[in-house]
Amino acid sequence: MSNMMRVLSDEGDEFQHIRPEEQASDDDLPQSPSSAGTPFFSYAEDRAFTDLDAKYWAQAHPPASSPPASMSFRRSSATPSLTPSQSALSDSFRSLHLDNHSRNSTTEGSFLLERNAERSPVRTKTQSASSVDDPYLKPAGPSGLGLPEQRDSANSSRPQGAAEYITHDEDMDIELQMICKSVQKCLEIRHKYISRSNQGPRDNPRDQPDWKIYPAPPAPSWTASKEPRTNKEEDSVSQMSPSRPEGADGVGWDFNFEACHIPEIKDDIEFSLDNTGVYQVSKNIDGHRSNIVQVPSIREYYMDLEEISNTSSDGPSKSFAFRRLQYLEASWNLYILTNEYQELADTKRNPHRDFYNVRKVDTHVHHSACMNQKHLLRFIKSKMKKCPDEVVIFRDGKLLTLQQVFESLNLTAYDLSIDTLDMHAHRDTFHRFDKFNLKYNPIGESRLREIFLKTDNYIKGKYLAELTREVFYDLEQSKYQMAEYRISIYGKSLNEWDRLAEWVVDYKLFSSNVRWLIQFPRLYEVYKATGIVNNFEQIIKNIFQPLFEVSKDPSSHPKLHVFLQRVIGFDSVDDESKPERRLYRKFPYPSEWTTAQNPPYSYYLYYLYANMTSLNALRKGRGFNTLVLRPHSGEAGDTEHLVSAFLIAHSISHGILLRKVPFLQYLFYLDKVGIAMSPLSNNALFLAYDKNPFFSYFKRGLNISLSTDDPLQFAYTKEALIEEYSVAAQIYRLSSVDMCELAKNSVLQSGFEAAVKEHWLGQGFDLPGSLGTHVEKSNVPAVRVDYRQMAHDQELSLVYKYSEASKDQSQPSVGSKSISSVSTELSNNSSSPEHTSHLDPIGRRPSMTSNFQIPETHGFPGLKHQAVSRRATSTALTEPSPH
Ligand SMILES: [Zn+2]
Repeated sequence: MSNMMRVLSDEGDEFQHIRPEEQASDDDLPQSPSSAGTPFFSYAEDRAFTDLDAKYWAQAHPPASSPPASMSFRRSSATPSLTPSQSALSDSFRSLHLDNHSRNSTTEGSFLLERNAERSPVRTKTQSASSVDDPYLKPAGPSGLGLPEQRDSANSSRPQGAAEYITHDEDMDIELQMICKSVQKCLEIRHKYISRSNQGPRDNPRDQPDWKIYPAPPAPSWTASKEPRTNKEEDSVSQMSPSRPEGADGVGWDFNFEACHIPEIKDDIEFSLDNTGVYQVSKNIDGHRSNIVQVPSIREYYMDLEEISNTSSDGPSKSFAFRRLQYLEASWNLYILTNEYQELADTKRNPHRDFYNVRKVDTHVHHSACMNQKHLLRFIKSKMKKCPDEVVIFRDGKLLTLQQVFESLNLTAYDLSIDTLDMHAHRDTFHRFDKFNLKYNPIGESRLREIFLKTDNYIKGKYLAELTREVFYDLEQSKYQMAEYRISIYGKSLNEWDRLAEWVVDYKLFSSNVRWLIQFPRLYEVYKATGIVNNFEQIIKNIFQPLFEVSKDPSSHPKLHVFLQRVIGFDSVDDESKPERRLYRKFPYPSEWTTAQNPPYSYYLYYLYANMTSLNALRKGRGFNTLVLRPHSGEAGDTEHLVSAFLIAHSISHGILLRKVPFLQYLFYLDKVGIAMSPLSNNALFLAYDKNPFFSYFKRGLNISLSTDDPLQFAYTKEALIEEYSVAAQIYRLSSVDMCELAKNSVLQSGFEAAVKEHWLGQGFDLPGSLGTHVEKSNVPAVRVDYRQMAHDQELSLVYKYSEASKDQSQPSVGSKSISSVSTELSNNSSSPEHTSHLDPIGRRPSMTSNFQIPETHGFPGLKHQAVSRRATSTALTEPSPH
């Protein structure tokens, strides 16, 4: 027995060269001896079980020479004769595929993804309409997501074929149904939190057509008449206008605080912090006060968290997700082999656009590190030359000029270089987040950080504002690069918000290329140790009270009101790899959190979420823009962070730990949760570049974008975002279509207003597949978008099919509707871009059908092994597992 295990685990190792994520998992986090009971997946272990499963399976099921009676699918003449062992497991699936293929007159075994060279939208639609006859290429429910509550009774029948081929083996089907049911459950739980907090697409009043952006974005450079223009003309239409001052002084020239409308107080709304640490907003309805939104309680949150965590640690679920992800990657490889040429031809035919002039948003970048080091160095030197006598800091009981500060450091302007600045992090910070934090100090001196990189200092953030304007100016010059800067609110005092808003408004830090995110460092333990706060509730109060005040009565903090219009969301930051010991079985409420211990990540995130939910309800009611949660998650540390984020966050940054948690990764895929990835940052801190899961996420179709994190510490060039793309392109050999797709993802993930996105990506940019794609804007060919959409639809319909099957167990009738009638309805729905009646809770539209063919069931035979594995483990496996 142990010999066999040895062989099996060797075999597992052999597979490692095609599974970089497996290799990666070996050396950056300590692995538990067995992956059972954890969300981690062990390939070798899975293989070992699979082999055992096959043995039990073979014993229980003697070879069958003909398809089961329940199978009603025609066999194509091209079907090869299967060996008994093959047929035992994969007979039904094989015949299904072949049947599809014969119907589509392609040859067996080649799952052709080819498209016609002369592809036109009209042609696509007719092809789509015909291809929906095929039950396996068709989205399951009318919503495409297959959410039961979205379905009306007329459409509730699932495809006939599904019922017939899942009756092969009851035990396995039940297992598979249980898995799909729990996947669906997890998605539903997330949707509950997202819709409650108004984080779904188009939940935000800012995305409504009547939203006014002030200052307005620059006018489109193309006229409606589409007159042919020369390159020269195109270049001349830029951000510049005759009245705009030259250079960085021109940033925010069109912003005038006096011109901003400050709405009036809303008297009938009241807010108060309840004893559980959540602000509740109430309104007078029929004489008594009631809350305008029911915020999920912390108990409910932790129960849901527990449920998803448990499912992601369940062996069969892990294997199922792992195989589906592997399948997605394989089908991508197939797609790219057969369609790469077509894609390139499509983009070559597309006039004007290329990678450099499609819009790309830096979705994750910290403001205090947003300039590159050469820029900062030049700025410091120029300040030393131009204003050495300016009083800049109050230190050790006296005021110091810039000259005196540098004298105290024993430095002159001439001495300064990038090397003395020493802010670059790529050699000595790996797994040392503490060292990385010190890199924010120029020359290792915190006083220089305070003078040059803080908004709230003796000079009221003047230097940082000047630097910021220069950065904004560079972005505006580049025209196609945008950024969402993350800036800190610490929660140390109630007036932090006002000071920050004053800084932004007074220095006119408004640019059409920039939006803001607010990051809250998880620093309770530091404030507690220094006596700034007594309990966690004070931090919540400092962070949220001004926001509720300004949302109820904007005139109470007029500058904050204006600034908030440019804020898109919240972030939670700090070193995720810090150990989190669970002191309590049940966490105390914030007012009772008085220990020196820092609350865990999930606790921080809940209180951000819960208070943001109330705040959003209040703001949405008033027609103000709402906010989303976009925390750092899965950069290091516990995988529970990712579960919390999946539950309640709009999108996340990093997410590299998802590579070890296939079930969660699959959930992120299914729900298209945005992930802003920064492989260069990871390379310096937590994960070597070659082990980064970026490319495998990309191939699988996760919703990822590229971002710089900290250009000051990680980038070498002036255009950090282009540097990030360029390194990725060279390492992974990304094509220009890949890069444009990433750029498009970044726009979709970003918090820019829908009107702006529409200008960048074209009308109906959030419609599925090629309906929402304008190659002339995004330079992403429709063939690519259709493929992604189709692959996604198939996964959803798979989950839907089996989870529905589990519900139908008691009522076996399949439904009276024929497949073709359902198909017709579907194609009717999806052919109209304006049709929005089938939005799922977070607002996606019905998926469109497509003429790609990829067999969805390839993962099943392996998956089915898992069904037996429980029986096998409980009855026969008495020896220790191979690890
Ligand atoms: Zn970051």
